[in-house]
Parts: sequence; C-alpha cells; structure tokens
Amino acid sequence: MREMIPLKGAAVSAKLKKEVQDSLTLLQGKDTPKLAIVRVGEKPDDMAYERGAIKKMQNFGLEAESYPFPETISNEDFKREFRRINENPEITGILLLLPLPDQISQKEIETMIDPAKDMDGISPMNQAKIFSGDLSGYAPCTAEAVIEVLKGYEIPIEGKRVTIVGRSMVVGKPLAMLLLKENATVTICHTRTKDLPSECRRAGILVAAAGRAKMLGAESVGEGAVVIDVGINVDAEGKLCGDVDYEAIRNTAAMATPVPGGVGTVTTAVLAKHLVRAALAKETI
Ligand code: NDP
Repeated sequence: MREMIPLKGAAVSAKLKKEVQDSLTLLQGKDTPKLAIVRVGEKPDDMAYERGAIKKMQNFGLEAESYPFPETISNEDFKREFRRINENPEITGILLLLPLPDQISQKEIETMIDPAKDMDGISPMNQAKIFSGDLSGYAPCTAEAVIEVLKGYEIPIEGKRVTIVGRSMVVGKPLAMLLLKENATVTICHTRTKDLPSECRRAGILVAAAGRAKMLGAESVGEGAVVIDVGINVDAEGKLCGDVDYEAIRNTAAMATPVPGGVGTVTTAVLAKHLVRAALAKETI
C-alpha cells in the first residue's frame, strides 16, 4: 500500500532560514532587524506563541522583544503605548497578538499600525493589497505559510481544485486570495456549508483551518489528495492535534502536514522572512 508522505514544516523552515540569511548579508553593517511582539494579557497560547517566535527570530539571526501589557489596560493607554512602538525607528516590524481584550478597539489599532511594520498583514492597506493580488504588502503569516509548504514540496498549485475549510481574515480568506494568485480554483467552506465532506473530497488540495480537533476524517479526503492542516487544537487526551484526523487519512491522502510539526513551524519562519523584507525595504527608501 502507498505510504502517506508527511509534509514536515522543518524542511520548509530550513529553506526559508537560508533565504533570510542570504538577505541578511545585504544588511551587513546595519542594525539587526528587530521584531516587537505586542501582547495584552497573559493567555497561555499567546505566551507559547511568543516564546516560539522569539526563539525562531534568534535562530534566524534576528532580534525580537516582547512588549507585554496588562489585560486591564484602557483603550487610550494602549493606543498611546502602541503609537510609541509603531513610531520607534529601532523597531523594524510588529507582531500584535490577537484578539485584544474587549475594552480595546482592535479596529483602531489595525488602522493605526504602519503597513511597513505590519508583519502579520492586519492593516487595511495590506489586506487590500492581498485581495487585489498585489504581493508587495504583507500577508498574514499563516496563510503565506500554506503557500510556502506547497511550494517547498514542489506541489503544483496552478489549475488545482483547492478547498479551504474556514473563512477567517487570518487564514481562510487571505489564503484563498493567495491561491487564486497562483491560479488555483478555490472553494471556501464554513459552518453553513452543506455536505462539507463532499466539498472536501473534491479537492486535490484540502486546507483545514476551522479550529475543530480532528473534525476531518477519511470521508472528507479524496484519494491521493494533499492535505494541509492549519488547525492547532487539543484533543480529548490533552494532546496537541490538528483539524484533520491524521491517522484516519493515512490510506487516502497522498501527503499531509502533521500537527505539531507542520504549518506552525513555517508560520514563524514566514514572520522572519517578512521582518528581513521590512528591513531591506527601509534601507531602500
Ligand atoms: P476562527 O475561529 O476565526 O475561524 C474558524 C473558521 O472555521 C470559521 O470561518 C468557521 O466558520 C469555520 N468552521 C468552524 N467550525 C466549522 C465546522 N464544523 N465546519 C465548517 N467550518 C467550520 O479561527 P482561525 O482562522 O483564527 O484559526 C483556525 C485554526 O487555525 C485554529 O485551530 C487556530 O488555532 C489555527 N491557527 C494556526 C496558526 C498556525 O500558525 N498554524 C495560526 C493561526 C491560527 P464560520 O465563519 O461559519 O463561523
């Protein structure tokens, strides 16, 4: 029987590390690009993501610093602090951990962030660029990580039927635009989709970004499909898992990203790539 090939994030991340380090040679003699990670509150998921991102930046030869604020900070105080970070010339790029607490207007902050420092593509300017097929802005790192995995493993995208489960502004929607740019034929599914398994089964490339532990099994995967699992969840036994039941699709899918060890690893590598791009762009202004 054919063995399902694991699409490991580490291999793609290593390739991106090489690209980042090649770009860094162009910045010799300049300050090391610096990422500010802005966090409000102390959610364990945010803290874990922050630690991972800082480690990755350092591993790639970049700098990263955490800017934590108390969960109870007022909208006005946070705006003032955020403006300071946004205008600090020593900071090359900003990663704002979302969602923000209710008292803070996320919309205002998204509008305020300098598009040139917006490493995770949350500003209206960068979103508009992605939706108009203009790749000069910054896409959300996770959406771009999916493209990097496909390209890293030389999986053709053009003309492929791709189904994405999830329509968030962080993953599903921007990813659909990036895939369209690569000439895929894209279907986006969500909670009101009728007969989700059959929509998924038709896909040559299936992307799961719903945030529901192991919700997609063999009945949702076409024979020989490539499966990209963006989901990060905890299963009934408290173990990290994706939206796809990795064991259940072994005899159906041709290739699949594991969780952990798949898209997540590439997401922070894309963040590093964005940071170096921002530093290079600053030098050429
Ligand atoms: P959201 O909760 O914002 O969006 C989830 C989407 O999935 C919604 O569009 C929702 O549909 C859809 N959905 C949820 N349940 C179902 C279902 N049963 N059937 C069909 N569609 C469904 O999540 P995010 O986009 O922020 O994140 C998605 C997943 O990706 C999460 O597990 C998250 O942890 C992970 N993630 C991983 C990252 C990485 O680096 N690997 C980074 C960011 C996120 P509707 O719109 O109808 O509600």
